[in-house]
Amino acid sequence: MSGMRATTIHGPGDIRLSEVPDPTLLEPTDAIVRVTSSCICGSDLWPYRGENPITEGATIGHECIGVVEEVGSEVRDLRVGDFVVVPFDHCDGTCAHCLAGVHSACVNLGMTTSGQGEYARVVHADGSLVRVNGVGDGGVPDPALVPSLMALSDVMPTGWHAAVAAGVKAGDTVVVVGDGAVGLCGVLAASTMGAEKVVVMSRHEPRQRIARDFGATHVVAERGKEGAAAIKEITGGIGADAVLECVGTGQAVGTAFAVARPGSTVGFVGVPHGVELPVGRMFSKNVGLAGGMAPVRRYLPDLLDLVLAGTIDPGRVFDLTLPLDEVAEGYRAMDERRAIKVLLQP
Ligand SMILES: [Zn+2]
Ligand SMILES: [Zn+2]
Repeated sequence: MSGMRATTIHGPGDIRLSEVPDPTLLEPTDAIVRVTSSCICGSDLWPYRGENPITEGATIGHECIGVVEEVGSEVRDLRVGDFVVVPFDHCDGTCAHCLAGVHSACVNLGMTTSGQGEYARVVHADGSLVRVNGVGDGGVPDPALVPSLMALSDVMPTGWHAAVAAGVKAGDTVVVVGDGAVGLCGVLAASTMGAEKVVVMSRHEPRQRIARDFGATHVVAERGKEGAAAIKEITGGIGADAVLECVGTGQAVGTAFAVARPGSTVGFVGVPHGVELPVGRMFSKNVGLAGGMAPVRRYLPDLLDLVLAGTIDPGRVFDLTLPLDEVAEGYRAMDERRAIKVLLQP
């Protein structure tokens, strides 16, 4: 290996496929993964839209699956040829924060930085990577399974984390704010956890359809005050038992608190941009906020089992597949909301 093709960002709206140096093992606990599929994340749109600082020419992309290509001398649990899901946040699995289930705050936290490329470096491979059994020796999984495995790299564990943070339990009425891939996975998480009513806030028909297939019982197309009023009606004037905030804007967070019943918790996983918390309402109504960056590795083994058993099919959030060569078109399609989520094939 000497050089690889990888997606790079050069400025707002400027995505290219470039030749960059191959990632290499830097620590004996690292692994290099040959990416067999990757995808574009809603959070990639923040720098794409110029709302996050950009390092010109930096690689981008944090979601991928693939085959272990190389392992450091201290990697014990993985072998070259293993097929793995790569959590976007890498962790050692052994520090106090990992042991407490907050792998996303690992003292050795790493991130996938060239997921939309041909190879990705993973730090603390033993703690981070999850092997997909039954697929090995450089093999690739059943193509029908690829989108759902891909969703396990970020969006499904993130939607699941929102539901866990919000304390979703059987019989609950759950409101999901956001109909992006994470919001849809939040719907799937809430219904899998046994919520009785799952309300998704969405005004886009294709997304509403997936949400219904994922277990949404109600769709609210209105936003702001009208949306909150519609949810009040669905909940008999009480409000939701749990709210999943999967967007990260001030408006979405405001809506989440407006529809949360007194004593409930808003689980938030949208990367916050311009959010001001309604502390007055949080205080007077005893509404809590929990969540944050998802500890993907915490949920990944169980979610993988659910995928392999056919219990959940989070890969349905992908509605466009492109060759890596066309990654720039993939970003445009997601930016213009022509696609929910784009799968890339190197
Ligand atoms: Zn992501
Ligand atoms: Zn750790």
